[in-house]
Amino acid sequence: MKIHYTSTNGRLQFEADAATVKEAFEWLSTIQELFEETACGLCGKENLNYEVREYDGNNYYKLVCRDCHATLDFGQRRDGNNLFIKRKDAEGNTLPNSGWYRYQGANGLKPTTTPAPTRREPARRGAEPAARRANEKSAQSEPVPF
Ligand SMILES: [Zn+2]
Repeated sequence: MKIHYTSTNGRLQFEADAATVKEAFEWLSTIQELFEETACGLCGKENLNYEVREYDGNNYYKLVCRDCHATLDFGQRRDGNNLFIKRKDAEGNTLPNSGWYRYQGANGLKPTTTPAPTRREPARRGAEPAARRANEKSAQSEPVPF
């Protein structure tokens, strides 16, 4: 079956040929996930550009707000063909602003927009050598004999 789909803001049109309703469903799900971001997550404006940047042999896919220069990163699925919007960090925590962020400074590091987690330990423990913290971590992952 032929499917024609227009994005909710009317700027993009897609066409596909699906053999089954499952295929059609999966195709629509992908299109809607990737191409229905209609407004910047930080300023709310609709001046969004799709950009692909090559760095060190890899392509990086992102949506960039032309008004406030906020960025929304896309990750690549293992199959090498499909993308997803990065709305969670590496630990699976939901990112603030639905994944939108602004680069800070010329070094290209992401700002820490995540609210500081509630500390369960005195702040000075964070100043301990990394080796000691690593030892504590490995000790925690070993079975406790009692
Ligand atoms: Zn913006």
